[in-house]
Amino acid sequence: MTKPIYLDYAAATPLDPRVLEAMQPYFALEFYNPAATYLAARKVSQVVENARARVAQLLGARSAEIMFVPGATAANALALESVMKHHPGKKLLASAVEHPSVLRLLQEYDGSEIPVRADGIVDIDALERLIDDDTILVSVMYANNEMGAIQPVHEVSQLVSKVRDARRKAGNTLPLYLHTDASQAANYLDLHVSRLGADLMVLNGGKVYGPKQTAVLYARTGLATAAHSGTENVSGVVGCAAALELAQTMRHDEARRLQTLQKLFFDLLAEKIPTSLINGSLRHRLPNNVHVTIPGQDNERLLMALDEADIMAAAGSACMASSEEPSHVLKAMGISETNAQASLRFTMGRGTTEAEIRRTVDVLAKLVA
Ligand code: PLP
Repeated sequence: MTKPIYLDYAAATPLDPRVLEAMQPYFALEFYNPAATYLAARKVSQVVENARARVAQLLGARSAEIMFVPGATAANALALESVMKHHPGKKLLASAVEHPSVLRLLQEYDGSEIPVRADGIVDIDALERLIDDDTILVSVMYANNEMGAIQPVHEVSQLVSKVRDARRKAGNTLPLYLHTDASQAANYLDLHVSRLGADLMVLNGGKVYGPKQTAVLYARTGLATAAHSGTENVSGVVGCAAALELAQTMRHDEARRLQTLQKLFFDLLAEKIPTSLINGSLRHRLPNNVHVTIPGQDNERLLMALDEADIMAAAGSACMASSEEPSHVLKAMGISETNAQASLRFTMGRGTTEAEIRRTVDVLAKLVA
C-alpha cells in the first residue's frame, strides 16, 4: 500500500507538531480565563498579549492593531462591516475573485466587483475607473485560493494613496481604505503591512499549519473596529501566532522547494496530458498551486477516481465543492462553464514530495486516456 497523497493544502493544513506543543499547556493546565483577576489568569493574559506582540512584529504593526478572531470568515466580516457601518451609504469595491466570505458582504452592501483579467489578476485600470468620490473601501485579496494568482496589492495601495491625495486637494474628507485577505499568502509572501500598504489585513491560522477557526485581523490605528468580546481562545491564539511565525520563517525555503515541484507538475502535465490547460497567472502565482483544465473531462468523476487511487484534490475550490454552481473565480476569468467543470485544483504543501507529483500525474493521465 502506498501512502495517501494529500494535495488540498489550500483547503486545510495539518497542525505543525511544534504548534501543537506550544498550544498544549493552555487546554487543561493553564485553562484560566485571561479576563479574570487572580495571578494565574493574569499570567494567561500575558501569554495572549505576548502572542499579539509577536504577530504585530511579523506584520511591522503595533500590538494594539492586532485582533484575534475566530476564523478568517469572521475576520473578513469584522473588517468590512466595521468600515461599512461607520460610513453608511458609502461604497465598497471588491475583486470578482474574492473568497465567498468577502463577496457575500459585497452583495449585502450593494458594492461593485472589480474585474480581473484572463489570468485572474485584478484589472487596475478598471479599479481606477470604479473608484468615485463615495468609495470608502477597496478589498483585494493577497493571493487567490482557487487558481493561486498573487494580486498586486502594493500597486492597488499606490492607487489608493493617489486617490487620497486627490480627495485632500478637492476638500473631500472621506477616507479610502484598503483591505486584503491574506489567508492563502502567509506561507509564501511578505506580510509587512506598510510595505503592502494595507489598512486592514486578514490572516488565517488554519491555512498555515495552525488550528482551524483561528485568524488575525490587522486594523491600522485610527480605524474603528468593533471591540472583540467573549472569552479569548487562548490555545487558539497561541497556536495561530506560533503557526504564523513558523510559516514566515520557513517561507523562502518552502517557496523555493515548491516552485521546483510546481514546475515539474506543469511539465509533466504538458507531457502526459498535452490537451491540458493551466489556469491563472504563471508569473504571479503561489508556488503551491496547480489549477488545470482537462477539456472534455468531468472534474467530479476525476476527483472520485483520484480518491479511489488515494489522491486527495479539489474541484475549483473547496468552498464551492458542495454546490452545483460553477466557480465564480473561473467565470470572472472568462473560462466557460464546460471548461470550469473540467478543472481540478492541486495545492501542495510541506509534506509534498516529487514522487507524489509523479504518481499523481501518472494516475491522472491514465484516467483521462
Ligand atoms: N479567505 C480565503 C482566501 C480562504 O481561502 C478561506 C478559506 O478557505 C477563507 C477566507 C475563510 O477561512 P475560514 O474558513 O477559516 O473562515
